[in-house]
Amino acid sequence: MLKRHHKTEALILKASPYGEGHTIVTALTSGGAQLKAMAYGSRKLTSRIGGHLSPLTRVELALYKSRDMDIIKQAQNLESFSELKNDLSRMTKAFFVMELIEGFSNTGVGNRPLFDLSLMSLRGLQSSSNRDIEDLTISCFQLNLLKVTGFMPELYTCVECRSSLNSDNYNFIIDIGGLCCSKCLNGHRGRAINISSKSVEILRQFDQGGTLFSELPLGSTVELRRLLDSSTGFWLDREIRSRRFMEHMNSRDIREPMSAIDMESV
Ligand SMILES: [Zn+2]
Repeated sequence: MLKRHHKTEALILKASPYGEGHTIVTALTSGGAQLKAMAYGSRKLTSRIGGHLSPLTRVELALYKSRDMDIIKQAQNLESFSELKNDLSRMTKAFFVMELIEGFSNTGVGNRPLFDLSLMSLRGLQSSSNRDIEDLTISCFQLNLLKVTGFMPELYTCVECRSSLNSDNYNFIIDIGGLCCSKCLNGHRGRAINISSKSVEILRQFDQGGTLFSELPLGSTVELRRLLDSSTGFWLDREIRSRRFMEHMNSRDIREPMSAIDMESV
């Protein structure tokens, strides 16, 4: 018999107003699947659940399974990330992380490492007060995201013909999924990103679990950051809206609370 009532821990990614005072919530469950659920009446002043359903909140949800979409009956706050929400600059980075999580997660398909990575990255952003460390946390998140979702690029042989690679000239082609040898490059001219052997070495070390991204010298990650932005954007198949806002914030030196209006516009 179908169990209609169930509970799950989840990270709220998005809360979209719907109809007269309702909300459609998009969340990542602790099992790593994307959940879309309806919270009826959650935007009314008398609602007991509305206050727990804002984006960037870890909650326990009690749900009722209905034909079209699960219905949220109760919500209990487990972690509110209030330090992030009170810091506009770090808040935009958290929204960037959550936009990618939403894009790379699937409804009904579990991926527990994705949930663990999400919390680790948001907590990393929350505990940091240094912008360079925050940027590293973002890069580390993107690289791990590619890994846990099966989009890690080919780094060891040519992605097309499997021949060995010339270590003096590495060419990365995003849409075929990794490094390409000089012979196969002819078919992909104009789309290749030339990357340094140092970056390839870092990526390989990371892939083999030998390097923590946060231990890298800061300068060595600029090239990788561009590569990771291009890769995650390509596989997501759309522009990452919060990236531009995050860069805009990075160019300003402000640390101020984010208003509800700002949060909805990200
Ligand atoms: Zn080749």
